[in-house]
Amino acid sequence: MRDVGICGSDIHYWVNGAIGDFIVKAPMVIGHEASGVVTKLGEGVSSLKIGDRVAIEPGVPCRMCKFCKIGRYNLCHDMKFCATPPIHGNLARLYTHAADFCFKLPDHVSTEEGALLEPLSVAVHACNRADVGLGHKVLICGAGPIGLVNLLTVKARGASEVCITDIDQTRLEFAKKLGADFTIKVTKDPKETALQVEEVFGQPADITIECSAAPSSIKTAIFATCSGGCVLLVGMCPGEIQLPIVNAAVREVDIKGVFRYANCYPTALAMIAADKVDVKPLITHRFKLEQTLEAFETAKSGKGVKVMINCERK
Ligand code: NAD
Ligand code: ZN
Repeated sequence: MRDVGICGSDIHYWVNGAIGDFIVKAPMVIGHEASGVVTKLGEGVSSLKIGDRVAIEPGVPCRMCKFCKIGRYNLCHDMKFCATPPIHGNLARLYTHAADFCFKLPDHVSTEEGALLEPLSVAVHACNRADVGLGHKVLICGAGPIGLVNLLTVKARGASEVCITDIDQTRLEFAKKLGADFTIKVTKDPKETALQVEEVFGQPADITIECSAAPSSIKTAIFATCSGGCVLLVGMCPGEIQLPIVNAAVREVDIKGVFRYANCYPTALAMIAADKVDVKPLITHRFKLEQTLEAFETAKSGKGVKVMINCERK
């Protein structure tokens, strides 16, 4: 293994031992935003060779069910996903993975960038779900790592203006540096925040990508999206929440779920390889495998954006 990024879900399993129905019942290796170097090949593998640097797509589906067959394998009921209990993750020195879920990195793409293909693929999938494209005015709610990869991706796909919200000023400043056209520090109720969005764009958002999971922000997402537009639910809010659903219905605002990704690694890699997005600035902290506890404490504290662990024995 080379580089493994820490994701909010890793922190969740570490701190709470569960996310919804996924409960850690036995010791489990954590980590799923990862890259490595091929040191051994399984029988019959011809797509890779020893020494190849690869990004690892962490979920391997059954390949047999109806969802797998239509290419929506992220919906497979038999998904084996790194660090989703009881499946071990790959924050380790050595790890075995299906060859067709390993993506060879060109020489000029680093293994850190390879690890970042994971969150970037979430954004590629989200943008595919709403067909984000040329000239769109896009609202992104939440400027955490997931909001930020969405920012980079919508820009790469030709969105003309992007507004991003957060309750944390530091995160908004980071987003501004990464290319957000407008930032809004959320202090008001959802309807008023939506009006602020309309003010900066001169119209409501064409598409809103909700990446905070805050219930009030999901309401804002609906109010701030134009009639006929689309709200993408990327943030995962636990439990049930109240939403202005009739407001969305009578204005034909489509609300779409987004769950991980399917067939998005090649696109995410191509975007990085062709310099259409630069994910490197997202990395704010670097640790060695031996410093994993410190790395997790840093990620948990909310300092910085992406914490990266290097697993090489040096
Ligand atoms: P994060 O916690 O680092 O970022 C969330 C951001 O939202 C924070 O900066 C926080 O300050 C901000 N926020 C909180 N309340 C807000 C509000 N009312 N309005 C606007 N912003 C607000 O998390 P992350 O790693 O960026 O992930 C974001 C969400 O995406 C999480 O819920 C995570 O579970 C989810 N996620 C979903 C998928 C998927 O497949 N759908 C994949 C990865 C992550
Ligand atoms: Zn399947």
